[in-house]
Amino acid sequence: MSKYRDILSTLGPGVTLLAVSKTKPYEDVKALYEEGARLFGENRVQEIEEKFPSPDERPEGMKIFMIGHLQKNKVKKAVALADRIESVDSLELLEKIDSEAGKINKKIDILLEWKSSDDENKSGFDDETKLMEAVCISRKLSHVNLLGLMTIGPLTDDKERVRSAFRETKVLFDKIGGLSVLSMGMSGDYDIALEEGSTEVRIGTLLFGRRG
Ligand SMILES: *Cc1c(COP(=O)(O)O)cnc(C)c1O
Repeated sequence: MSKYRDILSTLGPGVTLLAVSKTKPYEDVKALYEEGARLFGENRVQEIEEKFPSPDERPEGMKIFMIGHLQKNKVKKAVALADRIESVDSLELLEKIDSEAGKINKKIDILLEWKSSDDENKSGFDDETKLMEAVCISRKLSHVNLLGLMTIGPLTDDKERVRSAFRETKVLFDKIGGLSVLSMGMSGDYDIALEEGSTEVRIGTLLFGRRG
C-alpha cells in the first residue's frame, strides 16, 4: 500500500489530507497526484509560481493551498495562484487579500491562522479579541470566503503541550461557529490533532521524505 493511501486510511470521514510539497519537485507532486492526491500545500509564492503550471493548465482537480507566512507584496500573486490561503495572520493581510481578489473578480477561500504556541518564529493571531475581529471582518468582505482556522502546534516532544495547543484551537473554532475547516496536525503530531478534532492534516515529510 502506498504511503498516501496508508495515511488516508487512518483519517476519519470528513478529514482531508493536504500534501505539503514545499521544496519538492513537481515530478513528486505529479507522482502523488497519480496516487489520488489532489490538495497540495506550499509555503512560498515564488515556489508556486515556478513549480506549478498556471491555474488553468493544472491537472484536473489539483488545488494549491498557501500555508506559509505571506508578505504584503506577494499577496497579488498569491491570490492569483492559490486556491486557498491558510495563513491569514493579520487584519492588514486580510484586507489586502480582499482588495487584490476584488481586482481580479475572485472570491478566495481563507483560513485564519491562530498562534497556539509561544514560538517566537511562528506567526498567527495570538489574541482572541483580534481573532474574533478578523472573523467579523472576513464575513463582511466580498472577496474572501472564511472557511476556518489553521494552527501549527508547538515544536516539542511534550505531547501534552501539543495536545493542549490543539485543544485550545478547537475551543476557538467551536466558539466562532459556522466554520468547516480546522487545519491542524503535521507529520509529527497529526495523530494528536485528529484526536482533538482536526478536519485537515498537512503532511509533508511522511509523504515526500525529509526536506534537504
Ligand atoms: C512544512 C509545513 C507542514 C508539513 O510539515 P511536515 O512536518 O513535513 O509534515 C505543515 N504545515 C505548515 C504550515 C508547514 O510549513
